[in-house]
Amino acid sequence: MRFESLLIANRGEIATRIIRTAKRMGLRTVAVYSDADKNALHAEMADMAVHIGPAPARESYLSIDAILRAAATSGARAIHPGYGFLSENADFADAVAKAGLIFVGPPPNAMRAMGSKSESKRLMAKAGVPLVPGYHGTDQSNAAIEREAGRIGFPVLIKASAGGGGKGMRIVTQQSELEPAIASARREAKASFGDDTLLVEKYLSRPRHVEIQVFADIQGNAVYLFERDCSLQRRHQKVIEEAPAPGLSPQLRSRMGEAAVAAAKAVGYLGAGTVEFLLDEDGGFYFIEMNTRLQVEHPVTEMITGLDLVEWQLRVAMGEALPSSQDQLSINGHAFEARIYAEDPSRDFLPATGRLLHWHPPAQSPHVRVDSGVRTGCEIGIYYDPMLAKLIVWDENRAKALARLQSALADFEVAGLVTNLDFLSNVATHPAFAETAVDTGFLDRERDALTPMATQAPETILAVAAIGVMLSRQEETKAQAKMSGDPYSPWFLASGWRMNDDNHHDLIFKNGEHDQKVTVHYRKQGWQIDLPSGASISANAQRQDDGSLMADLDGYRMSARLVREQQRLTLFAQGKSYHLDLFDPMSLAAGREAQGGSLTAPMPGKVTAVHVKPGDAVLLGQPLMILEAMKMEHTIKAPIDGVVAAVHFAPGDQASDGDVLIAFAQEE
Ligand code: ADP
Repeated sequence: MRFESLLIANRGEIATRIIRTAKRMGLRTVAVYSDADKNALHAEMADMAVHIGPAPARESYLSIDAILRAAATSGARAIHPGYGFLSENADFADAVAKAGLIFVGPPPNAMRAMGSKSESKRLMAKAGVPLVPGYHGTDQSNAAIEREAGRIGFPVLIKASAGGGGKGMRIVTQQSELEPAIASARREAKASFGDDTLLVEKYLSRPRHVEIQVFADIQGNAVYLFERDCSLQRRHQKVIEEAPAPGLSPQLRSRMGEAAVAAAKAVGYLGAGTVEFLLDEDGGFYFIEMNTRLQVEHPVTEMITGLDLVEWQLRVAMGEALPSSQDQLSINGHAFEARIYAEDPSRDFLPATGRLLHWHPPAQSPHVRVDSGVRTGCEIGIYYDPMLAKLIVWDENRAKALARLQSALADFEVAGLVTNLDFLSNVATHPAFAETAVDTGFLDRERDALTPMATQAPETILAVAAIGVMLSRQEETKAQAKMSGDPYSPWFLASGWRMNDDNHHDLIFKNGEHDQKVTVHYRKQGWQIDLPSGASISANAQRQDDGSLMADLDGYRMSARLVREQQRLTLFAQGKSYHLDLFDPMSLAAGREAQGGSLTAPMPGKVTAVHVKPGDAVLLGQPLMILEAMKMEHTIKAPIDGVVAAVHFAPGDQASDGDVLIAFAQEE
């Protein structure tokens, strides 16, 4: 059963995470990618990558044929499905086996048994695993469901038997709401899963979601790798997970662990699985479902056990016995995981798409782990789940681990796309979460308080933004002067600036709702900055090796990073991010190089009109000259307020690339 090559039938962070372990184990790795993932990290990381089709998942990552063809082309001997996509599809597992390949996962029968919430509950009842009081019978008539709901007692929860991701779930608090809830749950279940079988459960008012990681091998051993508390959910979807579950007694832990192992054994389980329970306020726990795959949140278990669960999966798939017995396993410290999504919390968590302009996760260490499938420049599209990465932290106890989570979230820099990072920070710093375990309704109840507000940048941040812009401009100017080969070109003058004069420059920032003006005066050493409040400070800045800048504001130093996309500025400083729009007349004039904003001829061309003569006072942005090049007219505009000293070209003259067209005298 040993294999030397592994195909990973997935994408994103989970594909990169599996590839990492497979490589460490000496396996040859094969990635698959769709049209949308041509430049994706996972495809680059593997030893080989096979194109499997167009962007829509149905035609690529969900296509059994396409995956099997890729396995045949690449000669891969085993397939790891990751999570999502085909990972819980028993027909896929069957097809893999039929093709003579090894499926890294449980036997198809176990997947089928656990794939239906109703069927799995019947099995679990037989195995003596506690269930939420409910009805999961085959009589699906409205009458039967209504009768059972009455027997269970309101409130009840209607669920899709084939459900996942919270789809097809309806809370019903009284008899009169039942009929419409049943109808709409059926419709949603049919549309999402092609199966409208429903079940009814007692709706627990303030449960916690506590799940047990189990593992089983072909030799008949089965163990539990303790629990994860995943109660921080938004609309029944996990947001932050932790291990171990706060406040769980060792007795309860082993009772839940043993129940989970019994559940796995009841279906002849193999490999990694998760048995999900709801934990009642009085310590009662109830089976809700089993996930027959690796979970998104498996890293928190890895952090507290020191194990690599993907390695365990691969070893079990190779026919090896589990590396540890139950009594060799123990918990060390505490771990959290936060899921980082491209989504907008202020717009009902609408998924966001676009280009990742800047992706700078916190530094990895034994305390901080980042599982990510993206990098700067990545295009985040509409086709797949908008999860960008997972941030996992560890420390010796919960309080310390939570502090790690808070600071790692603060250090996480993303620009170009809106993310849930600020929302996660608000959750991680919520006093109720720090104090104790929360229930599954916590996030939805606290939602308003947790939704990040657009933060107005304070004046110091405006000052840093202004000097960041000025510093970048100096650097661009130097580069430009170097390229033009003429250190005295007006480009150089335009912002290196004559050091002895009080030349200044106005920057208008749109800061939240307000337009605010910052005036920058050039000084021999740095700048003097006039702020909207009337305060004036002397400032300086230096570029650091990692591209960030060290700003000095009247002796107060802070490190910051400025990411600019046209007018949009994102500034990361002191663990926060700020968004500003910059209205900068100078960059409008000088920045449009292709259209002739330069005083140096931007390209060879013919001067067709000259609007000024020596001695004329001009204002920033004022048209000075027209250059015709490549069959287009380019207006050369004033980069500053100033006085024209010389005009080097007359209408009809031919200018070469880089020629100085106009020189300035002194600014007024
Ligand atoms: P799905 O498979 O759609 O994710 P689950 O059955 O796993 O659905 O339940 C998801 C979440 O819904 C749970 O973590 C919990 O927060 C909530 N939930 C499920 N069943 C109940 C219940 N009987 N009472 C209260 N909350 C429940």
